[in-house]
Amino acid sequence: MSAFDLIVIGGGPGGYVAAIRAAQLGLSVACIEGRGALGGTCLNVGCIPSKALLTSSAKFAELKHLSSHGVSVEGASLDLGAMMGRKDKVVGDLTKGIAFLFKKNGVEHIEGWASIPAPGQVKVGDDVYEAKNILIATGSEPTPLPGVEIDEVDVVSSTGALKLDRVPDHLVVIGAGVIGLELGQVWARLGAKVTVVEYLDRILPGIDGEIAKLSQRALSKRGLKFQLGRALKSIDKTDAGLSLTVDRVGKDNEETIEADKVLIAIGRRPVTRGLGLDDLGVAVNARGFIEVDGAFQTSVPGIYAIGDCVPGPMLAHKAEEDGVACVETLAGQHGHVDYNTVPGVVYTDPEVASVGLTEEALKEAGTDYISGKFTFMANSRARSTGETDGAVKVLASPEGTILGAHICGAHGGDLIAELVLAMTKGATVEEVARTCHAHPALGEAVKEACLDALGRAIHA
Ligand code: FAD
Repeated sequence: MSAFDLIVIGGGPGGYVAAIRAAQLGLSVACIEGRGALGGTCLNVGCIPSKALLTSSAKFAELKHLSSHGVSVEGASLDLGAMMGRKDKVVGDLTKGIAFLFKKNGVEHIEGWASIPAPGQVKVGDDVYEAKNILIATGSEPTPLPGVEIDEVDVVSSTGALKLDRVPDHLVVIGAGVIGLELGQVWARLGAKVTVVEYLDRILPGIDGEIAKLSQRALSKRGLKFQLGRALKSIDKTDAGLSLTVDRVGKDNEETIEADKVLIAIGRRPVTRGLGLDDLGVAVNARGFIEVDGAFQTSVPGIYAIGDCVPGPMLAHKAEEDGVACVETLAGQHGHVDYNTVPGVVYTDPEVASVGLTEEALKEAGTDYISGKFTFMANSRARSTGETDGAVKVLASPEGTILGAHICGAHGGDLIAELVLAMTKGATVEEVARTCHAHPALGEAVKEACLDALGRAIHA
């Protein structure tokens, strides 16, 4: 068999996008996926099913709050099976869509788990394929908690939390990061009591502290309970359900929490087992992420890695950018990813969206900055829709170049795009503030935050 120009291992957003882009550039490409469907974590058990359930649960929850709009809904009820069925159909349609895109672009799809017996060779079952270049895009999986068994029924990871067959009475979420909050809110909206237990004294580590506080306040108003500064010690099964023992961090006392379901959402770790990296001599860092250079090449020539299995933000769009830049470089172009402008979004209500540096990071680095803030309470569109929680915050150099932007508010995940583009183009707060924004629109809060950084907000 003639050698492929490129074999991609892993059909997630990093791998499948890289495979399609490489085929567009004229390379002969195969993509190997072991899980039985393309799309990786993101489409199968991540971004897409979680957003489908967030949307469905939001519609259910909204019914309870329509009376302030003068609308009353009698007898609304939940059909969880139908909701899950819709989610599964959304996932199925999208994963089949990738198989179609592979055919359209001439990417060979090989099903099975791959290993790399030697540079230039990929093995699947008994078959060995030759490749000029190999791209590892094997992604990530939930990080387990030592001493806690995840049975995906009572004690679940994000994967189990996306397919519970009933609404829990009391769901305890361990970890107040993106995944814990999104899935916690799904089940809270559907009627569960939800308690989020977090080791740190704040939620959403890594997000600008002021914005994380706004998020916590808003989520608390929507029924989520937070137990911060607490570490899970053990989970015992009892006749009544589950009994959790948590330590108060820095204090010498323990607490007990009774629950019927527990979601462990303490982070994700790279998946590289079975590839044969040790024998090949591919270097990984202390946390198991594959080390790569600026062209995504590992320590072994001809073997590349991208996405969740390399250091950097563990996000689908970042994996895609990695994949495109990697194969464009392989094809002789100048692939590049600007990691300073990768946005992150938490799809809770209200959404949390951010790009660039946080205020804490600027302070720690001793960087001079100006900042501007505008609350949605002062935005007329937000007042009309009743979505007034949160604010837009921009951070800029004293000359006005935007260094970071952080939003807590309805549609924050869409609003951040303007500020991502501004940062990508090196725009200043003055330039964003002088851009005409439609009225009444949530985007006016972005403009006003930029004006505020210049000391001349109109509506504040
Ligand atoms: P993955 O998507 O993990 O894909 C890797 C693929 O490789 C997998 O399908 C795996 O089966 C396959 N594989 C592994 N080893 C082998 C092997 N040896 N042989 C063959 N195949 C192999 N990110 C966002 O940007 N936005 C979101 O809203 C978002 N929501 C999320 C919600 C949840 C609940 C979770 C869990 C994650 C979410 N993420 C989100 C993160 C996102 O899913 C990941 O960042 C993204 O999927 C990473 O893409 P990837 O291609 O690097 O890896």
